[in-house]
Amino acid sequence: MTSDPIHIIGGGLAGSEASWQIASAGIPVVLHEMRPVRGTEAHKTDGLAELVCSNSFRSDDAQANAVGLLHAEMRLANSLIMACADANQVPAGGALAVDRDGFSQAVTAKLEAHPLITIEREELGGLPPEAWDQVIVATGPLTAPGLASAIQTETGADALAFFDAIAPIVHYDTIDMNKAWFQSRYDKVGPGGTGKDYINCPMDKDQYYAFVQALIDGGKTEFKDWEGTPYFDGCLPIEVMAERGVETLRHGPMKPMGLTNAHDPLTKAYAVVQLRQDNALGTLYNMVGFQTKLKHAEQVRIFRMIPGLENADFARLGGLHRNTYLNSPTLLDHSLQLKSRPGLRFAGQITGCEGYVESSAIGLLAGRFAAAERQGETPSVPPYTTAFGALLGHITGGHIVSDDEPGKRSFQPMNVNFGLFPPVEAPKTAGKRLRGKDKIVAKRHAITSRAIADCREWLGLPPLPVVEEVAEAAE
Ligand SMILES: Cc1cc2nc3c(=O)[nH]c(=O)nc-3n(C[C@H](O)[C@H](O)[C@H](O)COP(=O)(O)OP(=O)(O)OC[C@H]3O[C@@H](n4cnc5c(N)ncnc54)[C@H](O)[C@@H]3O)c2cc1C
Repeated sequence: MTSDPIHIIGGGLAGSEASWQIASAGIPVVLHEMRPVRGTEAHKTDGLAELVCSNSFRSDDAQANAVGLLHAEMRLANSLIMACADANQVPAGGALAVDRDGFSQAVTAKLEAHPLITIEREELGGLPPEAWDQVIVATGPLTAPGLASAIQTETGADALAFFDAIAPIVHYDTIDMNKAWFQSRYDKVGPGGTGKDYINCPMDKDQYYAFVQALIDGGKTEFKDWEGTPYFDGCLPIEVMAERGVETLRHGPMKPMGLTNAHDPLTKAYAVVQLRQDNALGTLYNMVGFQTKLKHAEQVRIFRMIPGLENADFARLGGLHRNTYLNSPTLLDHSLQLKSRPGLRFAGQITGCEGYVESSAIGLLAGRFAAAERQGETPSVPPYTTAFGALLGHITGGHIVSDDEPGKRSFQPMNVNFGLFPPVEAPKTAGKRLRGKDKIVAKRHAITSRAIADCREWLGLPPLPVVEEVAEAAE
């Protein structure tokens, strides 16, 4: 094993966690952070792991919430970010919220004090020199332009996006298939399809007109000054299309042509909302063409007006933001390494996860993978049944690419959610099948118990007695 350091570019959430994991494995690290030499549009301080907006790490419920589960797995894996978050917690009900300055100062102090970590305050203006054989790029959604364009040159023009235009994603098992039906437009089978690849939700004329009006009236979020208005062809927010004329959506993403309502074949729908399978497991469906700047609560209210989606549970809501991220399923291998340049890994939001916790978790994994390689071992990838593995799977392989939109990038950033996990059978009580909410709760508990057990095994920790597993992991 050489004593050369592993270089980390970017001292945000992911870069800080990756540095900690590598140094904890006894390997030297050089962490290059450009602040305060050069700032970003959102960061305000020169602290490492600065939280740029909310101070919340979201739910801390490891038994019934996917991000709470990720917290628990990170704690098991000696996460610096979770230790500093726990130490700087402020009251927030079931959520884990932190004193943002105290949190960032704690991370900075820990990294500065570690004898194996050197912090260089400098911008990396291009790709790292070849002499650095192990590098992790964790420069986040606001990666400085010089490095971003160098990454683009290395990976290809289409491989790096600068905005995310996200359509909402729905949990399949919350779609009412007594109203919706499976069918591809004109029953087209296409290269990899079956002719029944889309879920279709029909609207009559009154429903459609009410829906268009709700989109126009709904509360919207504004672009920040520095974001500009990044509307590109084929990517207009749905409410902007609605404002262009009441019939516009019927000739765009909501066109009814080539579709026959399987529940009512003689009545032609006036408009149809289509959902397309989003992950290999078939547990998530995205609303085709529904990228939006509507406020989140408004999206839930308005999209539940769609027949078949009255009880929809959204794995993620739509958005349009400045965000630099890679087309990771194509570019990265399972250990987050650039296929075209081994030794160069990516971590954090630039890989296509979203949020403080997810970015830190991917930093944790990238750090462990790089450390393993430096020690001459093959990186051990977490099982897909864990929150770590489910998130990694979304980034590096689980996402479906649509055959009928060739050339169009469809990989979009995502928070961790239960739709990314392999399904489980809901346990029965007293031999009876559970229904409704009880069934959802039981399934979530089964997924989180399985995840904690598998995560412990992956980390080489002893198993816990079955009943106490989750409670103890959440402590
Ligand atoms: C405006 C805005 C608001 C957000 N609000 C939230 C929110 O409320 N909740 C949430 O969970 N997530 C939010 N996010 C997403 C959040 O930024 C990320 O989830 C998280 O910070 C990503 O972690 P990261 O480590 O990948 O990137 P960052 O935390 O952004 O860290 C990247 C670091 O790299 C440095 N850097 C960039 N380029 C270079 C370079 N060339 N050389 C050296 N250093 C460089 C930057 O200075 C920065 O410190 C928001 C993002 C933005 C842009």
